[in-house]
Amino acid sequence: MKIGFIGLGNMGAPMAANLAKSHEVTGFDTVAAPEGIALAQSAADAARDADVVITMLPNGDILRQVAAEIHPAMKSGAIHLDCSTVDVESARAVAAQAQGNGLSAIDAPVSGGIGGATNGTLTFMAGGPADAFATVQPLFDIMGQKAVHCGPAGNGQAAKICNNMILGVTMIATCEAFVLADKLGLDRQAMFDVVSTSSGYSWSMNAYCPAPGIGPQSPADNDYQPGFASELMLKDLRLSQMAAEAADADTPMGQAATALYQQFVEEEDGKGRDFSAMLPRFESRHRG
Ligand code: NAD
Repeated sequence: MKIGFIGLGNMGAPMAANLAKSHEVTGFDTVAAPEGIALAQSAADAARDADVVITMLPNGDILRQVAAEIHPAMKSGAIHLDCSTVDVESARAVAAQAQGNGLSAIDAPVSGGIGGATNGTLTFMAGGPADAFATVQPLFDIMGQKAVHCGPAGNGQAAKICNNMILGVTMIATCEAFVLADKLGLDRQAMFDVVSTSSGYSWSMNAYCPAPGIGPQSPADNDYQPGFASELMLKDLRLSQMAAEAADADTPMGQAATALYQQFVEEEDGKGRDFSAMLPRFESRHRG
């Protein structure tokens, strides 16, 4: 398969490198120029001969700009596979535009972060036509360990933001519970041992414990170096609230989590720290 890969940043570069081991990959990025990937002069040049064009870009506005540039250049029947995390509306607009140009589009945001991109162990949640999903499945198999087809265009993004809204909320709940436990004189290890095997368990507690020295290795054990940076969590929470607003869904916990991460990133010291650094944040505060 000939692949165009646009957006060779922290995630895109290692994903493209994994694909380049067994496919012909031509990349393009306005800034990054990673070694080991053939580079084109423009996004349209990277897309022109490709059977599948993958985009891994910062946001929906940039995705729309790039889609407007590459769709007219792509060959008929080719597939635009967008793996960026963007708003549901942009994903659906890009899919409609692709269809108008005789192309197929799949939105397939990822979970797994830079480690997953490097090791080829990402999880993809995909929206779009079933036949196009089947065509790109071998690429998912190279870049990741699992791909779930979630329905029509935009449903991959819908799944991603619902998942990450749960993640943001459970991380905050886990961090505030640790601080309450501290103040009640409950040992953190005992707290972990109970919660991780009781009904309060979650990925945030069991796999990514925000308390240093407790549970499996996590960014808490590395002074809260990300990991998954707080500003990326804020981005995803904002997308969840944009979608909730547009769909008239009542999401009070998602709204509260968005407000807390916004405060943490924009007014406190959260920027550049892992999203589990909510724990030391709560430690330093008093009841409001
Ligand atoms: P990044 O900023 O490192 O990479 C984005 C790349 O896009 C940059 O290299 C930038 O130069 C390039 N770019 C911007 N505008 C462009 C244009 N018009 N044409 C070509 N290239 C352009 O970001 P990232 O961490 O690689 O994340 C990419 C996407 O993946 C985002 O949507 C992010 O939310 C999502 N994501 C990131 C992580 C993570 O842990 N980093 C995890 C899951 C999902």
